Parts: sequence; structure tokens; C-alpha cells
Amino acid sequence: MKECVNTHESTRLIHGDAGCERLQRTPGPPVQRGSTVLLDRYDDVYDTSMVTYGRVGLTTQRTLRDALRDLEHADEAFLYPSGLAAITGTLSALLSSGDEVLACDSVYNPTRRFLQGTLARFGVTARYFEPSADAAAIRAMITPATRVIFLESPGSLTFEMQDVPAIARMAREMGVMTVIDNTWSAGVLFKPLDHGVDVSIQSLTKYVCGHSDVFMGLAAAKGKAVKLLAASSYETGWAVSPDDAYLALRGLRTLLPRLSQHGKAALKVARWLSTQPEVHAVLCPGLEQDPGHAIWKRDFSGVCGLFGIVLKPVGNDAVKRMVEALSLFGLGYSWGGFESLILPCDPQLAARTHGVRNAGPLLRIHVGLEAVDDLIGDLRHGLDRLTGASVENGQMEAVA
Ligand SMILES: *Cc1c(COP(=O)(O)O)cnc(C)c1O
Repeated sequence: MKECVNTHESTRLIHGDAGCERLQRTPGPPVQRGSTVLLDRYDDVYDTSMVTYGRVGLTTQRTLRDALRDLEHADEAFLYPSGLAAITGTLSALLSSGDEVLACDSVYNPTRRFLQGTLARFGVTARYFEPSADAAAIRAMITPATRVIFLESPGSLTFEMQDVPAIARMAREMGVMTVIDNTWSAGVLFKPLDHGVDVSIQSLTKYVCGHSDVFMGLAAAKGKAVKLLAASSYETGWAVSPDDAYLALRGLRTLLPRLSQHGKAALKVARWLSTQPEVHAVLCPGLEQDPGHAIWKRDFSGVCGLFGIVLKPVGNDAVKRMVEALSLFGLGYSWGGFESLILPCDPQLAARTHGVRNAGPLLRIHVGLEAVDDLIGDLRHGLDRLTGASVENGQMEAVA
């Protein structure tokens, strides 16, 4: 710090020592706020190898990026203000007018909206393959315009598994890049970049932040995608606040034990649900009877707390009664926090190209960190309401 002798109070209030050299050592990094970065030398101003502006992220964001790069086995990790922004930022970085994307039909719905909306306006086309399509079927769809294959495994809402290593290998041979939405695995249960995928995206809003109170996204990349993402991030101005980066880092510290507990409890709830008479099927690749189980077992080290159930055919009113009767499962979007959630999904399935023909209504369930027996009790209470057979306030409900 330069010596600066000031006589006026107004000047001293502005130029008082920021105290950076006096930072004590704590287990977490400082939450370093700052738009301007003060540079020591004249030549630093245009030194592109240095951090010269706060928008690109300071100590807190850099600490988080390093941790996430390590988690995803990546060369570099980029932060975005939401999971959706990580998806739209990555696709914008990799695609140009005239290019085509092949996406699995089970992509997160807002991903499809971006492909159909903004990217279509910019001259990028998208086609969708069946979520269970194998590498040969996807290869047959590739044209000279195909630039990116977008994967999500297990897929949103319907939880189909993809043979990611085989698809990534095929894509490399064909000169096509692969991107995966890896949110379900939290970057822990599956390492896509080890299997030849170019970019692994996560909504950190889910398990990494883990407390339903922060929006953030990650694109972790290996090889030539790194340069494209770096340029695009810089040109576009994606930034996350140091406070949010700190919360994401705090979430990371407990990610493994939380995820392990979510997974254990989810398998118990999923197994129980599969024995209930009102349930037609449980959509969870961790269950032996699931069509994606073999791929999951080969590639994944566990399950998270998120899976689906298809009820036996039943009216909308009955499902409404069931969902509203639950007291521990909140009704709401998102997942990956400490609390249990339930979401009716059928309206979202209508957007799919290949159509979904389920026997009955599809509900998505997130198993939180509550005692698992309490959660099972809550669900049994809800299922009882499907037939209107439960006794409430001492009165027998009419059977629907
Ligand atoms: C929630 C979610 C996203 C989007 O994340 P936000 O942080 O909410 O923008 C993307 N992909 C999947 C699979 C998700 O579940």
C-alpha cells in the first residue's frame, strides 16, 4: 500500500487502507467484493493474463471454479447465474448460424424452449432423438450441419438412461461435440468428461448449493471446448456474485454425505412405492427392474434423491387430492435441497416430439433429508386420498 498522507477527512474516508494484506486465514475463502481491481503497475492495465476486472470473478469465484473443475475432472469450469444460463451460455458458445443440434427428447423443458426460440431465431435448428436411442440410431441422424449432440442422462421427468460413453465415442469419430446436462449426478455420481464428453453442465442450484436458496450454473469443459466457452463467457458477460459463490462452496463441503443420504432414502422410498397397489411403475435407474439399470450400474456410483412414479390410471381430481394431502412433500419446482418435493409432470410431457404414453399420471418426487419412515407415512396418506378412502376430520369421504 502506497504511503498517502492526507489532511482532509473526506479523502481519508475514501482512501483508508482496504486491509487486504491483513486478512486472517479461515477455512473458507474471503467473500471478496469488487468491480474495480487495483493494479500495481502501468503495464498491468492491458495484461490479458491477469484478472484486471471484477466481472470475470475474484478470489471467491476462483476458489469455487477450482473446486468444481476438480469435481468434474475438467480442464476448466465456468460459472453462470443459473443452471439454465449455463445451458444457454454453452450452446451459444458452441453453435453458429446454420448449425444443427441433436438433442435427447427428455431434455429439461427450458433447454428445448431455448432451442426452439432464441437459437431458432439465430439460424440454429434442433432435432430430437428418443431418450433411449443408442449411438447407432443417433449416428444415423447426423448431417453435415450437425455440430452438437445434447444429452441428459437420466432424462428429465422420465429418467431414461443413455449410453453416454458409446455416444461420445461415436460423436468424436463424426467430428461432433457432445454436451450433457449432468445435474442429476451432481458431478459426483457420474463423470461425463472421463467418457469423452466435451462439456458437462450442472444446475448448481440443486445439490451443490443444496439449500433451495441460490441460483447458479456450471459448464465444465475439457479440450477444445474450453477456449470457446472462455471467449463466449468473456464476450457475453456472465458473472456470479461472490456471496453466491461462497454459498455454493459451503454447499460443496457437505455435498457427498448429503447426496449419499438423499440416495439411500430415495431408494428406500422408491422400493416401497413400487410395492404399492396405486403405483403402476417407478422411474428410477437405481432399481433392478428399471430399463436403464444396466447402464446406470456400469457408469454411475449411486442415485440421487430424484425419481418419478407413474400411477395406475386415475382422474386428475384424485391426483390433486393426493398431492394436496401431503404435508412433508412440498408442491413446487426445483429439487436438490434438504426438503422433499413432489411435482405433477404431465403438462410438460406434451412438449415432446416423440410423445410419452404412460399408463397414468406421472409425478416427480424429490426425497429430502427428513426421516425416511415419516416420508413413507406421508406418501401412504396421500395415496389413500387417491381413492378418497381416508377418514378426515372424522368424516368418511365419498369414493371418487
Ligand atoms: C433445474 C434444472 C436446470 C436449470 O437450473 P436452474 O438453476 O433452475 O436454472 C437444468 N437442468 C436440469 C436437469 C434441472 O433440473
